[in-house]
Amino acid sequence: MPEFKEPTRTGLTRRTFFSAAATGALAAPLIMTRAAFAAGEDASIVKVVPPRTRSFKVGSFDVTDISDGTRKSENPQETFGTNQTPEAVGELLEANFLPANQFVNGFSPVVVNTGSDIVLFDTGLGEGGREAGAGQLAAGLEAAGYSADAITVVVLTHMHGDHIGGLMEGGAPAFKNARYVAGQVEYDFWKDPARAGTPAEGGHKGVVEKVVPLAEKMTFIGDGTEVVPGISAIEAFGHSPGHMIFRLDSDGKALVLTADTANHFVLSLQRPDWEVRFDMDKEKAAAARKKVFDMIATDKLAFAGYHMPFPAAGYVEKLDQGYRFVPLAYQFDL
Ligand SMILES: [Zn+2]
Repeated sequence: MPEFKEPTRTGLTRRTFFSAAATGALAAPLIMTRAAFAAGEDASIVKVVPPRTRSFKVGSFDVTDISDGTRKSENPQETFGTNQTPEAVGELLEANFLPANQFVNGFSPVVVNTGSDIVLFDTGLGEGGREAGAGQLAAGLEAAGYSADAITVVVLTHMHGDHIGGLMEGGAPAFKNARYVAGQVEYDFWKDPARAGTPAEGGHKGVVEKVVPLAEKMTFIGDGTEVVPGISAIEAFGHSPGHMIFRLDSDGKALVLTADTANHFVLSLQRPDWEVRFDMDKEKAAAARKKVFDMIATDKLAFAGYHMPFPAAGYVEKLDQGYRFVPLAYQFDL
């Protein structure tokens, strides 16, 4: 099995890459790389991967999934199935054509152009993730035709680091013309100084650094709140204390942004009861998973899941136990 190698990012945006290529600025390194490659040296430095985006329509809304990056990890059972044996987890992975002892987690924020607002859901890992090749949201937005300044609303599904990391860049707001929307329960939990000295201390510090400075421009919401016309919040607590998901409705079409309700497209969907390390209340998270994906399966709704494999959207079919992920194909293009 060849080793999955995370591509090295050079920090070039698509535009600078192409303009650099056009002026020949990259020609020399490419030639050198061929020579280095022939000599058996590591040639990974020029592996520039263009931003990954996928746009589709939901009614009259333009929806774009943007890959902020991916992360490879070992020992899937230690994350998705902490109450199972490694063998049971490995077996289910292999039955789904996946390796038993490794997994890839993706991070996919979503931007929705409703015609009157440009709404961004979650912000990726931001500058803290860039060394590892993530934090690519800004480049992806640009590739999809949006500037960071064009975002009018930033919605936070919850306040884990891989969702709030891109809110601030160099200590300044990354989306300077935006207002913000976040769950009241979620914010109250993380900003509370009582989190110091608990397992939530790191998360508390992240929220103090990334979210608290923006709180004045933030609207705090609960179950059923309308964010903008056609986008409303649904409570799905468990993964985090105030985890929220969102339903888009436009011209008779719908899409549910399930955020972190299910975090692996096989392990969490086919075995919704398996305990997940990052679910802070494991029972509540499993109950939310079943409730949300039962609705999505029954109503044949499309969904976009933050950690689903890119383009991180699709459908689910109900099985005897759990759900089968059906990745998005061309349904929204016709
Ligand atoms: Zn997450």
